Amino acid sequence: MTTLFISDLHLDATAADAAEQFVAFLSGPARAAAALYVLGDLFESWIGDDDDDPWCAQICGALQALGDAGVACHVMHGNRDFLLQRGFETRSGCRLLPDPTVIELDGERLLLTHGDALCTDDTAYQQLRGVVRRRAWQRRFLALPLATRRALAGAARAGSRRHMRRAPPTIMDVNPDAVQRAMRATGVRTLIHGHTHRPGVHAFELDGAGARRIVLGAWHEQGSCLEWRAGGYALRDLERTPAP
Ligand code: MN
Repeated sequence: MTTLFISDLHLDATAADAAEQFVAFLSGPARAAAALYVLGDLFESWIGDDDDDPWCAQICGALQALGDAGVACHVMHGNRDFLLQRGFETRSGCRLLPDPTVIELDGERLLLTHGDALCTDDTAYQQLRGVVRRRAWQRRFLALPLATRRALAGAARAGSRRHMRRAPPTIMDVNPDAVQRAMRATGVRTLIHGHTHRPGVHAFELDGAGARRIVLGAWHEQGSCLEWRAGGYALRDLERTPAP
């Protein structure tokens, strides 16, 4: 059986193409998989499990249908949708995965992470991350009215876009030392992450033996999916057929 890994779909009510492709993916190829792992930023933003936008309900329903078909779906927080909580699990049938998580597939241990925690050169972002991941901050935010949360999330997205335009590209990638530290700490030879939107496979040497870092792609212009089967894998682009 195949296990699928995706990330960085950045689903948003205003970008129907990616959402349509994702829903088709869930009712199509994903049905043949043993499990689906979404390694963060499934949503462009998530303002709380009580969001009453019908669009959220539609995506959660499509995920629920995949679970009902017998495919286990695991979702990790990204830097956009870190407010996914128990209510999302109930609405979608997905299980939230801690970041990082180690799983074992075909006798190999794989370290799964969104990837933002590895971008240690971006100190401004790491500082912000430290604040918004605190329970007290999240409780205060989630107590605000939905409309206020929506407005604040919009402002945060605009701020993030400005930061991404200004920061040098090297700072926005993972730090090689942070990668090695994370892999050593968990004793893995394979790391799978998203976040940087730079899909690819990087082979390197770690403490005298071969190691690899597999980077999942974003779903802005097309889909991207890592298929893992019997110890082998393929990182594929999923073409998006334009709406007629
Ligand atoms: Mn991200």
